[in-house]
Amino acid sequence: MSETQNPVICWFRWDLRLQDNPALAAASASGQPVICLYIYDDQSERLRPIGGASKWWLDKSLRKLGEDIAARGGSILLRRGEAQSILDEVISQTGANAVYWNRRYAPGERSLDETIKSGLKARGIDAKSFNGSLLTDPWTFKTGSGGHYRVFTPYWRAIQANYEAPSALPAPKTLAKPDLLGDDLGTWDLHPTRPDWSTGFAPIWSPGETGAHQRLERFLDGAVSKYDEHRNRPDIDTGTSGLSPHLRFGEISPVQVWRAVQSLLQAGKVSREGAMTFLSEIAWREFSYVLLFHQEDLAEENYNRGFDHMEWRDAPEDFDAWCKGETGFPIVDAGMRQLWQTGWMHNRVRMIVASFLTKHLLIDWRRGEKWFWDTLVDADVAANPASWQWVAGSGADAAPYFRVFNPITQGEKFDETGTYVTRYCPELMKIPKKFRYQPWEMKTEQARFTGIKLGETYPRPIVSHRLGRERALDAYAIMKQRRDAT
Ligand code: FAD
Repeated sequence: MSETQNPVICWFRWDLRLQDNPALAAASASGQPVICLYIYDDQSERLRPIGGASKWWLDKSLRKLGEDIAARGGSILLRRGEAQSILDEVISQTGANAVYWNRRYAPGERSLDETIKSGLKARGIDAKSFNGSLLTDPWTFKTGSGGHYRVFTPYWRAIQANYEAPSALPAPKTLAKPDLLGDDLGTWDLHPTRPDWSTGFAPIWSPGETGAHQRLERFLDGAVSKYDEHRNRPDIDTGTSGLSPHLRFGEISPVQVWRAVQSLLQAGKVSREGAMTFLSEIAWREFSYVLLFHQEDLAEENYNRGFDHMEWRDAPEDFDAWCKGETGFPIVDAGMRQLWQTGWMHNRVRMIVASFLTKHLLIDWRRGEKWFWDTLVDADVAANPASWQWVAGSGADAAPYFRVFNPITQGEKFDETGTYVTRYCPELMKIPKKFRYQPWEMKTEQARFTGIKLGETYPRPIVSHRLGRERALDAYAIMKQRRDAT
């Protein structure tokens, strides 16, 4: 590292990439040596601690980022502790006179970053923040009356009419190797041991910037053109992009995705229906951040406060059966087992299992949100609570509460061949199509032939579809009465 120039610190957070990284590009453009710092802050009370599956991803992603930085002559500086004091420490050890970062948007993250920024500026340190993880900052688009969007369709129209992706920013050619001792990543215990429940993750995922781009390229090379047809089919592996954990950790940005899709569209290489439906999902991600920005307690409080009158069931045994994928409803169990085995679940199935929890079992969406937070590799501060509230009916632009997904017909419709359900519930392999999503309807004779013994080899349903649905609708009617009476 040059001894004559003060370095600039690029503080990596949810932007674990070198290409098209606004904070890193600005640091590099300063002409000063760039120190790449990552702080594992599991101490600041304002931050939501990341879940187990996300820790697994973070571990692998940081290793890859470290390799990519080393390939440019630098080294990643890893430190664990409270962000503010670590920054102070590194500044005094290196003589850095600037700190750049890309913005985070969870309320605690924002307030912490504001405190840090004003503290640095007060000491004459140049502190700058950038947008590195969204198409636009969540305060950018306003409705005609100047408020924020609460309904997705007009928000999506506003993006299509006004958004233009900025030019790509190159990765820096060289990075600095600070003469400082950092932590050994292994000491952070991000990879699970005793037991290592993550063995199903590695065959599926390639965390890191290279893995993110490979996944995008694979998806854009054909599958995107069928996205509008296949996106609801969990039995088709290429039906959706699988980019969510890469986006969540900022190994690729939505701007890069947008640019890549638009250029294929302009060249007429992909179908418009497929490509635009795909981009609209990227916009749903943005919309979640708009909601989070305007309702900071999105993971704790109902967006629609009428739902404060809802009487949820406690039902620890039902919740446990749901978590383990032992509800007796094959499509629900397959989804929950996919989540446990791979750290991910198909969107259609996320909707089915979330509806089952909040409606058939009448269990508070917040408990489901927390379980997902711990088990998803893409667990996202905005998309997770916004989606849970959307399914529960308490969210913005939500699915109406009375729309209770039928887990039998949903399975029949979206996993027609049973490929998905039998991948995660192989004990159901021999069940004839007619009973695949309702094995309890088989006569004892038939069940014996298929090797299924309900209650032994596969669970009996923990609630009947009809009763679960009626109970949910009754609870909703009572909630409305209570709400209207206040
Ligand atoms: P694709 O279909 O390929 O979509 C491309 C990208 O668009 C995704 O990677 C994702 O970033 C974004 N996206 C797609 N659908 C949505 C959506 N409905 N809301 C917001 N963004 C979307 N997504 C998360 O990224 N993190 C979460 O924690 C999360 N929790 C969810 C919880 C529930 C109950 C539900 C119903 C949905 C949740 N989603 C979450 C949204 C969605 O299920 C996932 O983004 C999607 O399944 C990821 O798969 P993919 O990358 O193949 O998506």
